[in-house]
Amino acid sequence: MSDTKQDQPNDFVQWRHAPASRWIYCPLCREPLSNQTWDGRERRYCAHCGFVYWERALPAVAVLVFEPVRQEILLVTRRYPPFVGGLTFPGGGIELGESVVDAAVREVREETGLLVSLDRQFGTWATPHNDTIITFFRGHPIDGEIAAGSDAEDACFYPWDKAPSLAFSLHNMVLHLFRTEMGMTIPAS
Ligand SMILES: [Zn+2]
Repeated sequence: MSDTKQDQPNDFVQWRHAPASRWIYCPLCREPLSNQTWDGRERRYCAHCGFVYWERALPAVAVLVFEPVRQEILLVTRRYPPFVGGLTFPGGGIELGESVVDAAVREVREETGLLVSLDRQFGTWATPHNDTIITFFRGHPIDGEIAAGSDAEDACFYPWDKAPSLAFSLHNMVLHLFRTEMGMTIPAS
């Protein structure tokens, strides 16, 4: 599945990932914003009070939860755009003041009902347009009953070697990494 759909206009996406060009009024003094170049890049700027909108990539986390007894991985079905109905690892944005590890554990808990222990980090990668930076962890469940919640419409375990394709290329890449680590031989696509 292509990632280009992430760029399509959508009311929900707009307030979650509103680009700088959509900011009209200053959030501090309500005067209209204009464009001004700061550090070689055009940014939204308030000439009245000096507010500058420094647009940054969103830091996020995702967790590949592996259940070692049944040899299954945990996937959630997306409730909101982009890719409603698509499968991904549980994950989401890191809250201000929250550690990366705490965010990973919280997101799994919110979306699947399960408490996980994180085993290690796979790594940190940017989405294709460099607008979200995701740190991927591997973890295993230690408590809780599976129950979809928050951004997840459904949460289910799938055999690690037969799980369906995921909605995002980055998640598929990490699943590929995991399968390779598990000794699965995967033909080059
Ligand atoms: Zn202002």
